[in-house]
Amino acid sequence: MKIGIVGAGPAGLYFALRTKRRESGHEITVVEQNPPDATFGFGVVFSDQALEKVRQADPEFYRALDSRMERWRDLTIVQKDERVPIDGNGFAAVGRLGLSRLLQGLCDEAGVTIEFNTRLSSLDQFAGCDLIVGADGVNSMVRELLPDTFGPRIGYLTNWFAWYGTRQVFDTLTLTFRSNGDGAFVAHHYRYSPDMSTFIVELDAATWRRAGLEAMSDDERQAYCEEVFAPDLGGHGLIANHSVWRRFPVVANERWTHENIVLMGDALRTVHFSIGSGTRFALEDAIALDEALAEAKDDVPAALALFEKRRRPLAGKLEGAAANSYNWYEDIGQRTDYDAYDLAYDYMTRSGRMSDARLRDTAPRFAAAYDERRAARV
Ligand SMILES: Cc1cc2nc3c(=O)[nH]c(=O)nc-3n(C[C@H](O)[C@H](O)[C@H](O)COP(=O)(O)OP(=O)(O)OC[C@H]3O[C@@H](n4cnc5c(N)ncnc54)[C@H](O)[C@@H]3O)c2cc1C
Repeated sequence: MKIGIVGAGPAGLYFALRTKRRESGHEITVVEQNPPDATFGFGVVFSDQALEKVRQADPEFYRALDSRMERWRDLTIVQKDERVPIDGNGFAAVGRLGLSRLLQGLCDEAGVTIEFNTRLSSLDQFAGCDLIVGADGVNSMVRELLPDTFGPRIGYLTNWFAWYGTRQVFDTLTLTFRSNGDGAFVAHHYRYSPDMSTFIVELDAATWRRAGLEAMSDDERQAYCEEVFAPDLGGHGLIANHSVWRRFPVVANERWTHENIVLMGDALRTVHFSIGSGTRFALEDAIALDEALAEAKDDVPAALALFEKRRRPLAGKLEGAAANSYNWYEDIGQRTDYDAYDLAYDYMTRSGRMSDARLRDTAPRFAAAYDERRAARV
């Protein structure tokens, strides 16, 4: 079987790896516009639950990934300089570049062909392929080639964000809320290597306008954020890596497949970074598509139908969870005066699916501290 994949992100590379390992006779080519060492952003975080799925599906890959990860248990909310620890189920983070190098190395060993520095603007190169995979990310060329077929829906959130890194190393996944005369800010930050952390800065549209960020250069925006988050950066600056300020695009597709073409990962749907699951979904798509091919004995139309049947229900559930989460952040300007524990409680229950009983179960230390804080106020 001949398989052509557009995009050497986590979705494309991991699908190539699994499928080539399962069926070494398949001829698999991944075409990537960037050189091997290029990546945007810094580290990505996974919940332990998400990693458990990868472990079950692929213990060998999990072990290789695990050795590159930073781990911690809790989540911390910082509001008005008060730190609220929230006991969690555990998290782990890895650098995007580290993940990419790992997957590239494993693909090489398995015999997958990766053509770097080649930007596709049509699918002509894959004309003789049995299967074509659009794993080309949020601005997918494959999806844009066939808009009437895939029926993409793309909406933009109103908050602005940029993905920075910093040499300041944090103990846990932390959400730091700060405000000034211009408005409200939140940073999502965590370490992903012994000496580097991700630092995503997000702010609402009113703050963007009042602070005059629209008219600033990228360097000025970075300096402005360094000032807002100076108490958290411990004397370190922010580091940029294609850290473009933008509004998050929420992507979904009416149809996922067309003849022998399938979309996966961010090309198929984006997952807001506040629920930290885009890479997880990219990896799970890869597992699901490979399993569908194996079950359908490489009958492509049957495999693509099976892939969609299995993944669609999850996508629906996820869209709801992600929307509850990003809508909560869109309103950050309304919570600048909240007590730190009230804000943390509001955050924990933002999905609408976290009852008090469930909270006591999931985060017993936090639930007890929150009750104590409320009792002290009465
Ligand atoms: C601020 C931010 C924070 C995030 N944090 C997390 C997190 O903590 N945890 C998490 O799980 N996820 C996170 N994500 C999401 C995650 O980055 C994506 O979901 C994930 O990278 C999707 O993988 P992918 O392979 O589908 O796409 P990508 O990683 O975007 O890869 C697509 C590849 O296709 C290539 N390409 C595109 N067009 C072409 C073309 N025409 N020809 C050739 N090549 C092409 C691109 O260069 C790229 O290498 C975050 C995203 C953002 C924006």
